[in-house]
Amino acid sequence: MSENGGGAGIAVGIDLGTTNSCVAVLADAPIPDKAEKIAAGRLRPVGGALVITDRYRSPLTPSAVWIDRDGTPVVGARAKNKARQTGEPPPAMFFKRDMSGSEPLRAGHATMTATEASAHVLRYLRELAESVLDVPVRRAVVTVPAFFEVGAKNATTQAGADAGLEVAETLIEPEAAAQAYLAGRAGEPADHGVFLVYDLGGGTFDASVVEWNAETFDHLSFDGDRFLGGYDFDQAIVGLLADKVPGYNLNIDVSVPEHRALLGALLTEAEGVKIELSRSPAADLVKSNLLDCDGEPMILTVPFERTEFEELIARRIERTVDSCVSALEKAARRQPGFSAASLDGIVLVGGSSRIPLVSESLSRRLGKEPVLVEPDLCVAAGAALKTAFIDRHSAHLKLGPPVVLDGRGEINGQVLTGHGLADPAHAVVVLRSDDGEYTARVRADERGGFRFADIPLTDAETGVTVAVEVDGRELDSQADTLRMGPDLPRGGAVLANTISVKVRSGMRTVAEEGDPVPHHVEIGLRTVNQGVLLPVPVYEGPIPIGEVVISDLPADTPVGTRVALSVTIGADWMIDVHARVPTAGREGRATLNLRSFDSDSWERLRERLDSVRASWAEKRNLVDPETRITHGPRIEKLVAELEDLVAHRFDAAQATYRMTVVETQLESLPLGPGAHLSPSFSEFEGKLLDLEQLIDQLAGVDARRAAEFRNELPALRAAGSAAHRAERQLDWSTAVEQVEARIHAVWNLLVPPVIGVPGGPSAATLRAQVLAEISRGRDSLRDRMAGVPGAQRTQALEELYKSLVTEGDVAQADVHRVDMNAPDAGRILRRVLDERVMPWLARVETFPPVVDVEPE
Ligand code: AMP
Repeated sequence: MSENGGGAGIAVGIDLGTTNSCVAVLADAPIPDKAEKIAAGRLRPVGGALVITDRYRSPLTPSAVWIDRDGTPVVGARAKNKARQTGEPPPAMFFKRDMSGSEPLRAGHATMTATEASAHVLRYLRELAESVLDVPVRRAVVTVPAFFEVGAKNATTQAGADAGLEVAETLIEPEAAAQAYLAGRAGEPADHGVFLVYDLGGGTFDASVVEWNAETFDHLSFDGDRFLGGYDFDQAIVGLLADKVPGYNLNIDVSVPEHRALLGALLTEAEGVKIELSRSPAADLVKSNLLDCDGEPMILTVPFERTEFEELIARRIERTVDSCVSALEKAARRQPGFSAASLDGIVLVGGSSRIPLVSESLSRRLGKEPVLVEPDLCVAAGAALKTAFIDRHSAHLKLGPPVVLDGRGEINGQVLTGHGLADPAHAVVVLRSDDGEYTARVRADERGGFRFADIPLTDAETGVTVAVEVDGRELDSQADTLRMGPDLPRGGAVLANTISVKVRSGMRTVAEEGDPVPHHVEIGLRTVNQGVLLPVPVYEGPIPIGEVVISDLPADTPVGTRVALSVTIGADWMIDVHARVPTAGREGRATLNLRSFDSDSWERLRERLDSVRASWAEKRNLVDPETRITHGPRIEKLVAELEDLVAHRFDAAQATYRMTVVETQLESLPLGPGAHLSPSFSEFEGKLLDLEQLIDQLAGVDARRAAEFRNELPALRAAGSAAHRAERQLDWSTAVEQVEARIHAVWNLLVPPVIGVPGGPSAATLRAQVLAEISRGRDSLRDRMAGVPGAQRTQALEELYKSLVTEGDVAQADVHRVDMNAPDAGRILRRVLDERVMPWLARVETFPPVVDVEPE
């Protein structure tokens, strides 16, 4: 075990929760008057850790922040209570859901980002810990949900720094819980075990399968829901309450400040009822001195029964068990034969797992009784246990976990000031490999930071020694080992979500959830059409996080050209994406600082929901029947949930997130055969319809020819259908051209004789139509260019744009040149339309010319 005290003070473990937060230390940490503090209830033993309580002996601090009029922050229970006070602006709560977003949140008399709000909570916990422990607290292990996106993890580390805490590690919550569970299991040998950690808190649900092997945890799989928890149950009770008291108006519109305060107060009461229902079969909501939405005073004494509450939440609890089943299935993919029967235990975490229905549903469906030990405290306790393994400190030297990437090593650290060293800038840091082959020296920066990059590795394990020297004299040193291969560095981070890129036929995974970070992959792609812009969109889980674009591909680059894509996810959680077309010497590069997740306005969400609905209505006919059966119900359920969220206007962060999830699902739906062929099947059908109508017109002029054309229709339709089903672009183009040729032929028969005939198009009408088409094409071209981001407007693209503009001008001049008195004016106009305007329009429709790719 490493030294845990020393110059940098004690390290704490922090559970920064959506609803509540908690701080703990290792049980054997050097704390003055430890026994007295335990006896006084200020330190509460949980497993091998001590949870720190506030002066009311409460171990939980509500994650709520409120800023008063003169800017003083209020954190915890006092801030949470502001939600009930009418006339006061509400506190910031549940901000963990918005982590990594930059949207300002209301926090009393100020606004702040979720990161800033988290910093307030972390600072409060640090100060609480220091006041109870009587030692400085500078470092922490902070837990994050397994499902946190990378950006949210970065934001957590940033919040720690803002609170004066160095976040030495972000630990995933299930690992922390399992660690605490193991430490608390008295007497049993615990050198191996597999656990399902079921974590249902206030705002998120995570199901994880973790495996413990003597010293290390392996996170086998996870599943979950970023927006499911006790808060939803509170909302459900408020909804039920509104039904139970029809005499009062509880039609809450959260954009009205009074309504918002009322909702805050009702949610607090609902939470009380919910918690009581975990203990007793019935509970009353009793509340007076609130005004309803019409401003009428309410006197509430409303009975609730547990069965009624269970009915209300049953679907959501079943969904959490579905997630557990899915996590077990994912684990089975990594360990064949694995099933619920292989589990050594089901660990319940999070306040909402106290709801009796949770244990009942899990036992019923998984055939195993879950255990419930301090579900709100075990995550903080586990984080505290982990502090024993974070960075090693000695008198003057702190080393971070070594990183190995692409066969080169990297070590970061800090020179610590103290006896014999007043200024870190005086120090020189020396790294030597144990075999004496390699030595490097760097100077520490003014804060003592240093970094050795590019350390050559000679072996599977390369031993090195890092020493601090002042004036050639060694003050301190530590040994370390750089390991090659797939081993995680100790305490190493893993990806919480799959990282994938989008190709024409769907998603292609580049890194799996659970893969260690840093991570590097190279994949080969091939172009499947020609164009100038080649975008490769990147996704973290279901969420698009950006794209890399090659914006100057020569338009004649052959189909099937290789595109080399390399993706590097750095230890700093930045993703570097590099796409190259070696044969054309073109490339694109993007550094994606992971998704920034801002909530949309309700108006915008309404619009997005409408287009989601329209897109599904269109796509459900394009996908093959099997996809419709497998994906349809899920998408329809998501859309129904979104309807609810958008109608209730409770939770914009949740609605924005779910909207993005369903949009991505819709976009990546495998479409049925032929769906990627151009033009689309419905355009082909439209052309057939045009042809039929022209034939009808022709019948009035030349019945015999019309009948001949009509007889051909079934064969034309059949050829099209067959080519479409077979997904053969060449046959498909031929079939479309056949129809177009017939249209052309019928037109030619029709136009001259029909001119002047009532009901037929005159040459003047045709002229007006052609000019309208040109004008439509011009507008479309301008819009399309305006949609191309500045950075992608390469010279090649500008030139293509200009040539298309000129082409439109030339076509227009051609139309103006036609002598409208000439007897064949109609025929000439028709030719301009077919030979100039239509092909030009087709090219406009594919501007900017985007290249699609597929894996090799
Ligand atoms: P956590 O995020 O783990 O702190 O969990 C907080 C959530 O658990 C809140 O929604 C609480 O209302 C809920 N909770 C706490 N205790 C209980 C209980 N006994 N029964 C039901 N829900 C509870």
